This record gives sequence, structure tokens and C-alpha cells, in this order.
Amino acid sequence: MCENADDLILGVDLGGTKILTAVTNYQGKMLSRDHSITPAQKGHEAVIQSILESAYRALEQADVAVSALTAIGVGAPGISNPETGILFTSPNLPRWRDVPLRDIMQERLGKRAFLINDANAAALGEFYFGAARGARNFIYITISTGIGGGIVIDGKIYGGAIGAAGEVGHMTIDDNGPICNCGNKGCWETLASGTALAREARHRIEEGVRTSILEYAEGEVEKVTAQVIHKAAEQGDSLAKELIARTGYYVGVGLANLINIFNPELIVIGGGLSNIGDMLLEPAFEVAGERAYKEAFQTVRFASAELGRNSGVLGAAAFALREIRRDKDL
Ligand SMILES: [Zn+2]
Repeated sequence: MCENADDLILGVDLGGTKILTAVTNYQGKMLSRDHSITPAQKGHEAVIQSILESAYRALEQADVAVSALTAIGVGAPGISNPETGILFTSPNLPRWRDVPLRDIMQERLGKRAFLINDANAAALGEFYFGAARGARNFIYITISTGIGGGIVIDGKIYGGAIGAAGEVGHMTIDDNGPICNCGNKGCWETLASGTALAREARHRIEEGVRTSILEYAEGEVEKVTAQVIHKAAEQGDSLAKELIARTGYYVGVGLANLINIFNPELIVIGGGLSNIGDMLLEPAFEVAGERAYKEAFQTVRFASAELGRNSGVLGAAAFALREIRRDKDL
């Protein structure tokens, strides 16, 4: 980036459950950080109000005036167009339809703002400040309750025609698989996410399979989560180990598809479920190796995301800075 050392950016990572805001400098150093709950059920006006309150707290904490900001970068879940700044729709933000989020932020804070999809922001965070530094062609995936992704080609996010590209979690893996939130069947995230892992465990428990998983979930099948299954697997529970390996298998099938389509030099894997580590990723890499083109598989590197929960907020800030510099250079 061609930046000034005194550039300060406000980054916003809007999630379906949490809002994270931070004041950062051009090197991705966070001067402050504020997080709050997303009042997602109350509609977009309430959410925007919460973002603004969080933003002012972050600014105060960093002792920075709004007027001193170079720009504002907002990462938001769902389908949005970075060119128009409109958030079309988001499964995590019910009732949001065609919200001009960029312009609203710009008007309320009086500074240039930029909007980007949250997973794309996280990909850029890893690109500028994390595991993908120096890579030109890479894919970032985040495996947690769902699966998100960002595709970087020649150093830029690939957005497609309207900015909707990179929805890797919604590629079909099983044409008759479980129904997805998006309306399709057998999407990658219905088979390879934390939600999928927990759903399968509950199903098997209800079928009467012997397992210690329930002991880690206070004896209640509704309390079975990916973390609980991971704990049971670490203690040697055979169902937990089998289900994690099965999830890893599906992670690998999706990776093979991505490798064959994009021939990336690097795939960065983040998200809560990926913290399970080898028990999940070893079968994933094995299956990817069996299914992808050998030449493409041999050239791809896998890396763990480095920025954790900060990847989105840092990436949104970096995106804003890059865009505003690009405008000024034109
Ligand atoms: Zn889907």
C-alpha cells in the first residue's frame, strides 16, 4: 500500500452476534478495540446505532477525533457490493434488504467509508498483516458455525460481477445433502462446519450410539457443540473421533474443488473449528490430495490464520485505506 505513516483508520467488523471496532494505523497496529453485541433482531437502524456507539468508544479509547481519521472500513456478513456500498442481504442480519450501509456510515460519521464482505475483509487482513503476507494467489477460508471465504487473485479480492463471489461455503458437495440456510441442499457448510459436526453428533446420540460426548454437555443433547465433541475426542471417545474425521473428510472434498478451480499457492484456514487442528485437518489434507489434480495439490501450501478474531477488523481497515489511496492516485 502507498500509505502515510500518520494514516488512522476506523475498522468495523459487523457480525451476526458481535460488533468489533478498532482504530488502527497503516501497519495494522490497533490503537484501540471495542466489542459489543449486535442487536440483530431489532433491525438495521438499531444495529447501525450500536456500530456508531462502538465506534465512538474506540475513538475515545484511542484518543483520536473522527476528523483525524483517513477513512472507515466496514466488513459485514452477507452479499454486498463494494462498488455501490450496498448490503443486499445477509443470513445473519434478518430483515436487512438493500441497506446502503457505506453511505449511512459516511453520513453519520462525516468521513469516507468503504464496505466489504466480512470474509473478504478477513482474507485481506491475513494478506496484509497475517499468514498470507507475500502471497499473490490464495484462498482464505474460515470454518466455524458456517464456512466463509475470500479469494485473492493477483493481490486483489475476486468479487465477481456484483461482489458476491467467494461464497465457498455454499458450493454443493452432496446434491441430496442437508438443507442449507441459503435454500440449497448439501452445501459445503452443511457438511463440514461446526454446526454440521454438532448436528451429526446429536443425531447419532439419539440413535443410541454409545459415547461419552453427553457427559461433556451436562447430559443434554441440545448442549452438544463442536467444542464438546472436541473435548470428548481428546479423551479418546471413538464416536467423537469418528465424527471429527468425517467432518475433516468433507473439509477435504471442498478443498480439492478449490484447488482444482483456482490452483492457489496458499490456502489459509481460520475459524473456531479449525482450532481442532490435526484431528480435523490431517484427514482433510489427505482427501484433498487424493481428489485434487496432483500438480496443483503439490504446489499448494496450507497455513493457519494468524490474526484470529482481529482479521476482519484489520482487513476492513486495510481495504478502506487501499481504496482511498487508489482514489487519490487517480
Ligand atoms: Zn448454502
